[in-house]
Amino acid sequence: MKKKIVILGAGESGTGSAILAERKGYDVFVSDKGSMQDKYRKELEANNIDFEEGKHSVDRLITADLAVKSPGIPENAEAVRALADRGIEVISEIEFAGRFTTAGKICITGSNGKTSTANLVYDILKRAGLKVALAGNIGHSFARQVATGSYDYYVIELSSFQLDGMYDFRAEIAVLLNITPDHLDRYDNNFQEYIDSKFRIIRNQSDMDYFIYWADDPVIQRELSLREPKARLLPFSDEGSEGMAGYIENDNLSLSIHNKTEKIMTIHDLALKGRHNTYNSMAAAIAGKILYIRNEIIRESLADFQGVEHRLETVIAVHGINFINDSKATNVNSSWYALECMTTKVVWIAGGIDKGNDYSQLHSLARDKIKAIVCLGKDNNKIIDAFKGLVPTIVETRSMPEAVKSAYYLASTGDTVLLSPACASFDLFENYEDRGRQFKEAVRNL
Ligand code: ADP
Repeated sequence: MKKKIVILGAGESGTGSAILAERKGYDVFVSDKGSMQDKYRKELEANNIDFEEGKHSVDRLITADLAVKSPGIPENAEAVRALADRGIEVISEIEFAGRFTTAGKICITGSNGKTSTANLVYDILKRAGLKVALAGNIGHSFARQVATGSYDYYVIELSSFQLDGMYDFRAEIAVLLNITPDHLDRYDNNFQEYIDSKFRIIRNQSDMDYFIYWADDPVIQRELSLREPKARLLPFSDEGSEGMAGYIENDNLSLSIHNKTEKIMTIHDLALKGRHNTYNSMAAAIAGKILYIRNEIIRESLADFQGVEHRLETVIAVHGINFINDSKATNVNSSWYALECMTTKVVWIAGGIDKGNDYSQLHSLARDKIKAIVCLGKDNNKIIDAFKGLVPTIVETRSMPEAVKSAYYLASTGDTVLLSPACASFDLFENYEDRGRQFKEAVRNL
């Protein structure tokens, strides 16, 4: 008899899992409590995959042998609890798809920088002529690509929610960029739980595998002193070179891997600016070097890389005022890095849904660089309280066109208007992409 699998959530990862499961001979049922996007509905129909939307029929779900849960659904959702209570294995899409491929997996996690770094690694491997696919938040899911493609390597961006549902999965190369508080609403406000989730990336690694991490992150440092990673450790740092696989010396990005130390390039030639992107570039270069990719190719990739939309993306300059879209900055730490790399006075557009933000980390940057704050959220009180007295002008707005106009009015020639909200977008926008697109449109309409 066919094994029964249920898939909770019919987004990109759920639909990809359904297609993979169908091809692997499972009896598949997809259940989405919300309404599905048209393209996924059509795809399931075209593949004769049974599904429901607008509800979870728990009675049917609990007849399954295995369940794949979308990362967007919390562990304590009723349907997930019902499955778990009956001892039905609930796993993530990555865990599921990982069971059907022998390709090399380069997995990237961290609180910030995942997408940028995953794209950098993918670009390096692709330029080197490897058969590589990129899986994660952008583009196609891992499961879909395992089902329909044939690759030697997968570069996979992993959120903590994906990691939570991973048990037997093994990353041949794991990258941990940083750990700062984020998504604590899903971890009972317990930072340690979120940290443990991130460290699942090295679970099942052996001494044949590699672990790349930012050596100066205090949380990673502390955790490493308590854990015993089995993989070969490849730390990177911009503060010192001792014991580092990647470091900066006299402004040169240098690597020390496979018993060889080499200068790769000057950091001034890196395409992605800002200190945080130096870290991302170093992590990507190390991953490339593990696979013996030539320095020239790594250099070319890091120097030409186009960047990813909504991440410190320069829009245009209007009357000498530069507009930057960093809509993906949905927590305080990412906005810190955005502000840190600004070289002019800034009119900062910020706000949205606060995930327990501590704005005091931004105080000294605000004092030095921010001339005005344009709040863009339903409830802006926390930002106003955090910066009043520190920043001379703070205004409130409720829509993107209004925010962009106010910012334009408050800025002078030579200043930068930076959308880097430090908050989630769901109060006024569909998601961060919608917020970023509306920003760019409003800027172009000035
Ligand atoms: P993620 O996929 O982890 O959300 P992104 O690459 O999409 O990360 O970048 C999200 C935001 O985080 C960007 O707006 C950028 O300003 C900031 N950021 C990128 N890399 C880092 C890093 N290594 N450390 C801190 N912040 C970063």
